[in-house]
Amino acid sequence: MQKWFWSGVILLAGSVLLTACGGGAKDGALLVGTEATYPPFEMTNDAGEIVGFDIDLIKAIAADQGLILEFRDMDFDSLVPAVQGGNIDIAVSGMSITPLRQKQVAFTDPYIEAGLVVAVGPNAMNVGGVDDLKGLRIAVQQGTTGAAKTEELLAAKAIGSVKYFPNVSVAMMELLNGGVDAVINDKPVTEAFVAKHPDKIKIVGETLASDEYGFALAKGREELLAKLNAGLANVKADGTWDQLATQYFGDASK
Ligand code: GLN
Repeated sequence: MQKWFWSGVILLAGSVLLTACGGGAKDGALLVGTEATYPPFEMTNDAGEIVGFDIDLIKAIAADQGLILEFRDMDFDSLVPAVQGGNIDIAVSGMSITPLRQKQVAFTDPYIEAGLVVAVGPNAMNVGGVDDLKGLRIAVQQGTTGAAKTEELLAAKAIGSVKYFPNVSVAMMELLNGGVDAVINDKPVTEAFVAKHPDKIKIVGETLASDEYGFALAKGREELLAKLNAGLANVKADGTWDQLATQYFGDASK
């Protein structure tokens, strides 16, 4: 057999192995992508470690199922393409299960419910809810369900303009500084920011949409999907989920 043939076989085997490992995780670990500026679901602590409700939950699921995880912090809007391209194995990032995303990736069973809310800042303290946003400037995190909802409001002329930010912390900074009038984002995360600045920002009106978070993985990875769902069911049944909810939200009913 010719030498070039065998080097081709070796190269091919190597790349198959790399793909199987999910692009960069070592020793059979699964690579988890997350955008770690989304408290209390995912954030970095003072030691620079990624922590949060989602992180502890996926770690508990992994322990239950004998999976090894490695975490990578990345932009939220690159998570779905990274899952599709095999660069990460699982997106764990407060990601809402939406019909659009379901065309691109597979989701586990939902692990928590969340909804969108309007938070207003110093310029708009008189706003009572979504119906009072006409002409106002709204900040959103790009690529999120909050951004999609805000684009709908813009198309219906129910708001003045949209300003996009790569993560919700900077959107909230803009709100605190008066660069925008309101932010539309997920309720539990907005509550975490309001709790830090209760004199400057507040949530107004009803929850706009209720949706559910799931962990995203590539379509066709049935074995991994089954393990994640089995692990999720187990950590719900054994009280781990409730304990984490109490720890991070102070209320196990959320
Ligand atoms: N739940 C929202 C979404 O899925 C926002 C998620 C996030 O910013 N981490 O679009």
